Amino acid sequence: MVYNKLLRGKRLSIGEYLNSVLMAGIDLLFPPPALCRVCGRQLVLNTRVEMCELCLEQLPLVGENLCRLCGRPLPASAEPTLCFHCRNTRHFFVQNRAAAIYSGTLKEQIHEIKYRYNRRLAVGLGQVMAAVANARGWIPRKAHLLPVPLHPQRLQQRGYNQAELLVQGMLSCIHLPVLEPGVVVRRQVTQASTGLNAWERRVNLKGAFYVSSPGKVVGKVLCVVDDIYTTGATLDELARTLLKAGAKAVYGLTLSIAVSDSDLAASSGEGRS
Ligand SMILES: [Zn+2]
Ligand SMILES: [Zn+2]
Repeated sequence: MVYNKLLRGKRLSIGEYLNSVLMAGIDLLFPPPALCRVCGRQLVLNTRVEMCELCLEQLPLVGENLCRLCGRPLPASAEPTLCFHCRNTRHFFVQNRAAAIYSGTLKEQIHEIKYRYNRRLAVGLGQVMAAVANARGWIPRKAHLLPVPLHPQRLQQRGYNQAELLVQGMLSCIHLPVLEPGVVVRRQVTQASTGLNAWERRVNLKGAFYVSSPGKVVGKVLCVVDDIYTTGATLDELARTLLKAGAKAVYGLTLSIAVSDSDLAASSGEGRS
């Protein structure tokens, strides 16, 4: 529903994104076309994003009108400005951008990569993130990527960190340095944040991260990669910790962003009484 509302606004076509990937250069020595990482169909084009056009079309990519801080889509009619959340929150990060809206097929896919061990899909969605971010100039200059660390206990349960798989997918499309693993650690198993409000999420995450070797982050621009941006509590806590350790600036790049009907109503100035 929310997405349908947004669809009425201007939306970039997948063709534009794909073009940019193709323009980025098809490697002639690239192996023969692979299989779609979502549906398994044989790909006709040899692109770095290993997803068929049908599956790409299903992705609810964000439009052009975004909150300038968190990247949340705003109604097409709204002036490009701040969303309701960002008008009421102090952020430690410079800017976050999300490739798509957390809805429909993508919602199911994120569930697949987090709870059904679909690593292949995570890598494919990372490739999409790289294509979209590259086409829209969202990757900060001289940035090091940093997948949001998982607590070792979670890592052991799941067997992988989904944010690292997204980064792996990104790196198969674009060349970027990644902050060494282990420099930033999650020292706290936070309780599930579902059902918590924005303030409770922040309290829940306070002190969750720790920089083990500050020397490795001093003066660096970091681009934190995650699967979803909801209230921004995770990115803010990570940014606060990194800045304290001497990082120059912290940005965020997420596969998806949560958008609700009330966000749209609030950001367009409607629905306030
Ligand atoms: Zn497919
Ligand atoms: Zn915002």
